[in-house]
Order: sequence, then C-alpha cells, then structure tokens
Amino acid sequence: MRHHDSLYSHAMNGEKKMRVVALLNQKGGVGKTTTTVNLGAAFAASGLRTLLIDLDPQSNLSLHFGVEASNDEPRPSTTSLFADPPLPIAQCVTQARENLWFIPADQHLALAEGQQDAQHVLANALETVREQFDVVLLDCPPGLGVLSVNALTAADEVIVPMQAQYLALRGLEKLLQTVSDITAGLNPKLRCTGVVLCMHESQSSHGRAVVEEIRQHFESCRDSDVPWNTCRLLQPPIRRNIKLAEAPSFGQTIFDYDPKCAGADDYRGVANSLIAMWNERAANDASQQSSVSST
Ligand code: ATP
Ligand code: MG
Repeated sequence: MRHHDSLYSHAMNGEKKMRVVALLNQKGGVGKTTTTVNLGAAFAASGLRTLLIDLDPQSNLSLHFGVEASNDEPRPSTTSLFADPPLPIAQCVTQARENLWFIPADQHLALAEGQQDAQHVLANALETVREQFDVVLLDCPPGLGVLSVNALTAADEVIVPMQAQYLALRGLEKLLQTVSDITAGLNPKLRCTGVVLCMHESQSSHGRAVVEEIRQHFESCRDSDVPWNTCRLLQPPIRRNIKLAEAPSFGQTIFDYDPKCAGADDYRGVANSLIAMWNERAANDASQQSSVSST
C-alpha cells in the first residue's frame, strides 16, 4: 500500500481530508522555507499530492524552484489571491515535479500586510481545491502579521522550525500563545503538532539542554487543554548540511541536488515521522468514531 492510500484510508466517512500545515516561526532565518520545500518534496515522493504556498514577499520558496519574480512579466502568484477580485487559486498553481505544485510569491505581497479584515482570504481560497491535494504546506514570512494570521486561519496544524537555543525557546512561548489566541477566535481547530530542529548541532551541551527543556515542556502539557497538547519534537533533527543551502541556487530540492546527503536523509525521516503520526491519529479518530456509533 502506498503511503498516500494508508494516510487517508481512516478518514471519517471515507472522505479524503486535505491537510493544511503552516510552517511558522516569527523569527527570521530559522529554516521555514528550507523545511517547506524539502518536506514537501519528500511527501510528493511518497505519493502525496502536495501544494506549497509562498506567503513571504521575499519569495524565497519561489527561488528554490528557479522562479524569479519579474515586473515585466507578472505571473499569477499568492498576491493574486489577495487581489480584488481574487484570482481563483487553481489558476495560480504551477507544477514543479510529479505530485508537487507551488504558488509563487512576489514583492507586491507585502501590500497584503496592510489589508484590514483579510484574515480568511487563504482559508476561503483553499476550500475550492480540497479535492485536488492531500497536503498543503504554507511557508510563512518571519513575523506574525496578516500573512501569518492567514496561514493560521487556514491551517489544521502548525509545525515550528527552530534552533535549539535559549532565545529561540522564549520565541516558542510567544508563538504558542499566538496559536492559542487564534484558536480562541479565528480558527478553533488549529493545533501545534510538531517542532523541527533545523541546522542542528547535537554535540553542543547548550543545545542538548534546550532540547530537553522543549521535550519536558511538551510532556508536561499532555493532560492540559492547550492546543499544543499533542505536540512532538519531530525526529530526526535536521543536521546543519551545506548541501541544503546550496540546492536553491540551482533551483533544486535536496532530492534533486544530492539525494544521498545527510540533509536529504533527515528531511525524508521527518516526512516519514509525520506520515506515521497522521496515520496513528486517523486510526484513533476512526476507532473513536466507531465506538461512538456503536453506543
Ligand atoms: P526567513 O524568515 O527569512 O523566511 P527561513 O526561516 O525561511 O528564513 P531558510 O531560508 O529556510 O529560513 O534558511 C535560512 C538560511 O539557512 C538559508 O540560507 C538556508 O539555505 C540555510 N539553511 C537552512 N537549513 C539549513 C541546514 N540544515 N543546514 C545548512 N543551512 C541551512
Ligand atoms: Mg523563508
């Protein structure tokens, strides 16, 4: 059985469920875009129909696929979703590889940060492509403005790329508070489900202490009602690997550029951990559903 089939066979009522995941950290340069691209490519290689959306006016995700925004030849992009009237999302999607699609961004997307009452734009757009994709990954900009709030309003789950450093830990607290605020209003179903350690150097004792603190924090929340009570430190950590920094300059994912390097192994490993986690959860949901219907 392909992952693709096993992932959704437990979905309630036999319906396929499109899973929307925001890769979010308000701090810059932590590995959000690198993780979105390479996790997405790993999902696609497992047979999941995967859409990546660039929500950052810096357009770094687009650069990973060799797409340079040009004022001479404007192309449908995330900016088009925020236009009035918006372009249908299906017209903004470009196919990058087998099972892998993306929506590029351009610098005009920065104007969306100034739009009032625009929190539901992305969620509304994604409603129209529920049948087309299995997984949607949202590459958020650094910061917690309108674009990140759109991602949190549209997402089922948040995954946080971060470094194992003390200050990053304080940033994680703020991010979790934001997730909590969003569940209280705009998107009650939102959950923070994973932390990916990026550019990881396991030999540092400071790093090990921070990892332990993150692990203990999440364990201590298991019985509370917070939206991160199932959050896990995803395995394995992504080691610092220069190939991951080189691949985008060739418009390639790590699996195109060097499929045998440590970076490719690590992202493949995290993708498999997530697929296993989703399968487990879908199986639990299905058994709860059947025990409810048999009572
Ligand atoms: P921004 O907030 O600016 O959007 P980001 O959180 O998306 O940044 P990335 O662009 O993914 O972060 O990564 C920042 C830099 O670190 C990039 O140059 C990227 O190539 C590099 N990088 C990311 N992960 C690794 C890694 N595991 N090993 C080596 N370099 C990495
Ligand atoms: Mg980025």
